[in-house]
Amino acid sequence: MTADRGRRDFLRAASVVLAAPAIALNGCARTRIHGDPFTLGVASGSPLPDSVVLWTRLAPDPLHGGGLAPAGVNVQWEVAADENFRKIARRGIAAAEPQYAHSVHVDVDGLEPDRWYWYRFMVGAATSPIGRTRTAPPPQALGAWRFAFASCQQYEQGYYAAHRHMAEENLDLVVFLGDYIYESSWGRNHVRSHEASEPFTLAQYRNRYARYKSDPDLQRCHARFPWIVTWDDHEVSNDYADDRSEKLDPTFLARRAAAYQAYYEHMPLRASSRPQGARMRLHSHYDFGRLARFYLLDDRQYRSYQACQTAGRGGSSTVEVCTERLREDRTMLGAEQEAWLRARFADSAARWNILAQQTLMAQLDRTVDGNSRFWTDGWDGYPAARRRLLSELIAHKVRNPIAIGGDIHANVVSDLKLDFDDPTAPIVAAEFCGTSITSQGPRQSFYDNRRARNPHVKLARSDKRGYTTVRLTAERAYVDLRALDDEKRADSPIATLARFNVLKDVPGAAPD
Ligand code: FE
Ligand code: CA
Repeated sequence: MTADRGRRDFLRAASVVLAAPAIALNGCARTRIHGDPFTLGVASGSPLPDSVVLWTRLAPDPLHGGGLAPAGVNVQWEVAADENFRKIARRGIAAAEPQYAHSVHVDVDGLEPDRWYWYRFMVGAATSPIGRTRTAPPPQALGAWRFAFASCQQYEQGYYAAHRHMAEENLDLVVFLGDYIYESSWGRNHVRSHEASEPFTLAQYRNRYARYKSDPDLQRCHARFPWIVTWDDHEVSNDYADDRSEKLDPTFLARRAAAYQAYYEHMPLRASSRPQGARMRLHSHYDFGRLARFYLLDDRQYRSYQACQTAGRGGSSTVEVCTERLREDRTMLGAEQEAWLRARFADSAARWNILAQQTLMAQLDRTVDGNSRFWTDGWDGYPAARRRLLSELIAHKVRNPIAIGGDIHANVVSDLKLDFDDPTAPIVAAEFCGTSITSQGPRQSFYDNRRARNPHVKLARSDKRGYTTVRLTAERAYVDLRALDDEKRADSPIATLARFNVLKDVPGAAPD
């Protein structure tokens, strides 16, 4: 389908939504909905060969709690093999419950592998925009698969032109690697405002998601492709680690529970990710035939506290001498997730193994000259855990591993090695840490001045916002770094900043 046709679909679907009050059946009760209940759009995700999760949230007054009475509402859904809904594949009724902010998560099964489907929701007289989604290929398939990955979309610092362009790419999947929302207002040259203070409660986090998800370009990108998602820190609060916040808030776990619940409510996740208090199972793996396995990691919920914190404070710092940082018992993923990951490495038959995680995995010495300095929030704060992970890739002969990441608001392309200080150490994996959708990066001179200290880094560009596309084939991965002219302009054009290849069984990224 062409991008033009996709745009027309979206507009046509949007115009179907009726302004008249809708009456939704709720058992015997009737819930009257004033206004469009589908203001937050639709989404799909977590694709399997026979199943995909469909998402929406009923919110006629999205920025102020949603605007529905605290009663369940039944929502009809349809999945069709064609965009005109002539060939219905599956349909049903799902409950939008007030305890989940009237969000809907439909785990549709019985679908055919490796094909596009179209879906929509109906409540009363209102029909949602039409979304398009795709199931994963069957287990033995070794065809081609194209995905984009992205992260870090601080709402105030730019428009979502990157999402508008991503929606027009020829993709099968979007992978979002965290900082979907920001809890705080920061950065230079805002183009718009959160129009709300920092969230702490469930109601406040819901409104923050609604603010972000009201953006039409973000909605368009969700409606075009299935997404798989993980979070970073700003979905809760800056630089948190496990149960410890930057400000050592004694009630932090209650805040984390609220933030995790709001995250679940707004993402196309399966019921297995439903939060249990302050805990939520997010890490998971997705297979795309024999071509690719994605490991979606959670490096926030179970990690050791950042090393060498200043007294009376949590969060991160840049350290020179810090023996705590080097301790073997420090973990980024937690023991249980590490064991799970090891088992998934062991049973992977995939040609490409994609570590989809939050932040830069490569060592990044932050000094210009003199003694090395490392930032404690990223993998540099957990070097033993990084070495364990890379060693497991080797031990299980995991084929063609590629790490993708976000968090640092810069494109950084690196070789991952067991020992970054040894120029002769073999390359274990290629890493593509992607830039932000909008969030501002460090000055370009920061990276330029540190090239000599980081010879395993092949490209570092912090001056551009955008996303990365990856086309996987049996023989090669084609990686395009896509960069906006100016994220402060809603109509910004986009261009390819750099292109890399990873060849089958040749570790590391090669410039095109
Ligand atoms: Fe970020
Ligand atoms: Ca982050």
